Amino acid sequence: MSNFGIIPIDTNFIRSKYNASHLICHDGKAAFVDVGTSNNIELLEDALTDNNLDKGDVEFVFLTHVHLDHAGGAGKLMQNLPNAKLIVHPYGAKHMIDPSKLIASSERVYGKNLFNQLFGDVLPVEEQKILSPEDGQELLLNNRTMRIFYTEGHARHHYCIYDEYSKSVFSGDSFGMSLREFDSKKGSFIIPITAPTQFDPNEAHNAIDEIIKYQPDAIYLAHYSKIEQTEKLGSDMHDLIDDFVDIALLYKNEGKRMEHIHKKLQSHLMHKLRSHGCILDDAQIKNILQSDLYVNAAGLDFWLTKHAP
Ligand SMILES: [Zn+2]
Repeated sequence: MSNFGIIPIDTNFIRSKYNASHLICHDGKAAFVDVGTSNNIELLEDALTDNNLDKGDVEFVFLTHVHLDHAGGAGKLMQNLPNAKLIVHPYGAKHMIDPSKLIASSERVYGKNLFNQLFGDVLPVEEQKILSPEDGQELLLNNRTMRIFYTEGHARHHYCIYDEYSKSVFSGDSFGMSLREFDSKKGSFIIPITAPTQFDPNEAHNAIDEIIKYQPDAIYLAHYSKIEQTEKLGSDMHDLIDDFVDIALLYKNEGKRMEHIHKKLQSHLMHKLRSHGCILDDAQIKNILQSDLYVNAAGLDFWLTKHAP
């Protein structure tokens, strides 16, 4: 099968080509990596049909981490998959069995109305359908080895998957985001995701090293799907994590700290995008980056409060 049986599914969360789920098909068996929200579960089920698979063929639903843009639809999806196990980091499992805390904290961020619009129903998953892998554990999709490895930095409940067959890594949010709007002749552009509340720069660097250690031919990101040039983008990630932390520290003792960080992140990335050969105008770039940079600034602000030296 072309592309090693890896099919990106656009969940259409917020906008198109922003949030991906991936379907992996192998010899009549299937797995999903991240699922989006309840609002897009039919798209995942349609992808099975399009690839001549039944719901009963799905063996694994991997959640790289339990942030609701990737995991919110798991409860609804699992109800429809008779044979699948949900593969969740041990720190995330309890939140899938009882999602009330995830819901409450997201409702605080978005407000009830926007939360309902963005995420729909967040349903619990039956405990016996959940498998929490150890760091380094290998799961077999038929004879295809999927190796789980824990990656903190973005969130403590995060893991990545090394897929030996395609020599690729499914990185969730651990290898940042690469939006297709920023592709240029130079290739892809990468941006760290320093979201609240568990961003940790040292662990974020370690996660990049752990991913690059496999020398993957491709990395599949949750935002947005396949990138190549993995070594170059890994080194860009290291540089940008350092830049982001330096920017945060610059405003450590200032008032309106988060606003300053947001503005500086924006101008820094604007500059980087220009040297990357991005031809979008300033307003378009700002528009694309706005909500993610807000989240990044909030995460850096939180990190300063809790952990900065
Ligand atoms: Zn995340």
